[in-house]
Amino acid sequence: MINVTKTFFPPIEEYQEQLERVWKNQWLTNRGELLLELEEKVKKYLSVSNVIIMTNGTIPIQIALKILGKEGEIITTPFSYVATTSSIVWEHCKPVFVDIHPEYLTIDETKIEAAITPKTTAILATHVFGNPCNVEAIEAIAKKHNLKVIYDAAHCFGVTYKGKSIFDFGDVSTCSFHATKLFHTGEGGALFCNDADLNHKMYFSHNFGHNGPLAFHGLGVNGKTSELQAAMGLAVLPYIDDIIHSRKEAVEYYNANLDCGKLQMLKIRENASWNYSYYPILLESEAKLLEVQQALNEVDIYPRRYFYPSLNTIEFTKGQSMPISEDVASRVMCLPLYAGLVASELEQIVHTINNNLG
Ligand SMILES: *Cc1c(COP(=O)(O)O)cnc(C)c1O
Repeated sequence: MINVTKTFFPPIEEYQEQLERVWKNQWLTNRGELLLELEEKVKKYLSVSNVIIMTNGTIPIQIALKILGKEGEIITTPFSYVATTSSIVWEHCKPVFVDIHPEYLTIDETKIEAAITPKTTAILATHVFGNPCNVEAIEAIAKKHNLKVIYDAAHCFGVTYKGKSIFDFGDVSTCSFHATKLFHTGEGGALFCNDADLNHKMYFSHNFGHNGPLAFHGLGVNGKTSELQAAMGLAVLPYIDDIIHSRKEAVEYYNANLDCGKLQMLKIRENASWNYSYYPILLESEAKLLEVQQALNEVDIYPRRYFYPSLNTIEFTKGQSMPISEDVASRVMCLPLYAGLVASELEQIVHTINNNLG
């Protein structure tokens, strides 16, 4: 069976070595030695000034929305994982969708201003599949209208734009370290924020608001992660360049061998250095997508319909029509992509797709 993704497992002895440190310390959570070390290593790897590692990639979105969204209207993309939208609703904000660019698949920045109202407090956009939004245009709009910018950068570990980490853009960026993501800690995530005061607010918010054991800075929640997750992160991180390299080879094989005349591929933003996190293809119609998916399933290959459905059509957001996102969602799927996908598997995937495009 070839699945859309496969979690990277580091050699078990290397995970065990990290666990031995945990047993020796007799310290299991509350920002222990391993977690602090992982934060330092992640900062260094990404060349960012701050990171707060949390329990998953959703809680940092919620914390950012709680502090910056202020129960207002949030301009957001309909083409993302459900966590982007559900976090908005969960935090008693209102999602206001803006349609996507048909090739980059990120929010169409030229349509943002028309969606701004006096109640708008923030923009929450996704660098979908690791492909950066037009961060400069979004920053200019946010400045002009005094809005905050939060990026759901769940797919973006290692992505740079104009030579800087993509996590450096916006007021806050978040990432997911879930087992299916490029870099993972089993379950996990992170928040990135360059502004020292805002970073401090995010920091105390993820630890019940604590200011020492007896005092509180303000309202908080529990977003902390444990030493067991940090141990996994420390065991995976040394392999991250190999993981990205192996994915790059698979992507290059797809690019060179898929019948590009009959498929639309993701257009990566200019000046971005991408991380090969997903390989989405757009078929000519949903009927064709279902046909190709069926053919792949018959030979035990399981792509995924990422992202489907368009988030403006789900039960708790229904109402706004987003023609481009709905069209893209109906005919996009992600092909298997992970470190260690071998040549014979890639050949079979490409062969099956090309043979069913006619
Ligand atoms: C994976 C993902 C999340 C959620 O991350 P978790 O770590 O699973 O909570 C949020 N947004 C996007 C776009 C994702 O793909």
